[in-house]
Amino acid sequence: MIISVANQKGGVGKTTTALNLAFVYSQNRKILLVDMDAQGNATTGLGVTKNELKTTTYDVLINDASPREAAMMVRKNLYLLPANLDLAGAEVELVNVLSRETRLKGALEPLKEDFDMIIIDTPPSLGLLTVNALVSSDWVLVPIQCEFFALEGVGQLLKTVNLVKKYLNANLDVLGFLLTMYDRRTRLSQEVEAELRAYFKDKVFKTVIPRSTRVAEAPSYGQSILEYDRRSPAARAYNDLVEEIEERVQKQTW
Ligand code: ADP
Ligand code: MG
Repeated sequence: MIISVANQKGGVGKTTTALNLAFVYSQNRKILLVDMDAQGNATTGLGVTKNELKTTTYDVLINDASPREAAMMVRKNLYLLPANLDLAGAEVELVNVLSRETRLKGALEPLKEDFDMIIIDTPPSLGLLTVNALVSSDWVLVPIQCEFFALEGVGQLLKTVNLVKKYLNANLDVLGFLLTMYDRRTRLSQEVEAELRAYFKDKVFKTVIPRSTRVAEAPSYGQSILEYDRRSPAARAYNDLVEEIEERVQKQTW
């Protein structure tokens, strides 16, 4: 199973969600996390130094590097296809390569048998890197930050998802919308939640990720929130999210 975490807005919790989902899942499954963002936040967030990388997602997409060799083991059962600034060039370079939308899909195909699950962290745009992620995936998970204009751009994202579904990957479906940086005390969070649930109904995860300074601190230690503070409410929330995802995937009523 392959899940992309996508939203073309920056700073909504994509990387945090992709990384922590991957970590929770790695407790009892073999997981590959693919960093598709030139910022490389998923890479550094797991404690990997970006400028010491030999082979990155860029090389896999553009230089036909072996994804199996590029995948580095970062924890027990957790592997990373790392990214650094090289990937910034890929968005432009891909335009002129053959099968530009299916490069990642082709690269991940042989890895499907090596891993129980692949999670892809995407960049804050709807360009070719995100399209490559969507084309490769069974599911897309959409983090929504509890802020003003939270839903702005979601229509555009869903339009892209539907285009990919129609022309490139009939298998793709929305796994769910996830409220992130949720603060129960603020009216804003409650309003965003009410609006999202009214509109997307059951597609919104019951689990919400609370705003927590512990979550913001964890990446600077190269750790998931579950390693950094496993008793924090946010760590519990990411555990709950995995349970909810499992229920959804098993039901497949989407
Ligand atoms: P994106 O990948 O969508 O750009 P990130 O996951 O990098 O978003 O999150 C943006 C910033 O917000 C990061 O500094 C991250 O540490 C912080 N952050 C993410 N989730 C939370 C949370 N639940 N509480 C507090 N800070 C968070
Ligand atoms: Mg990110």
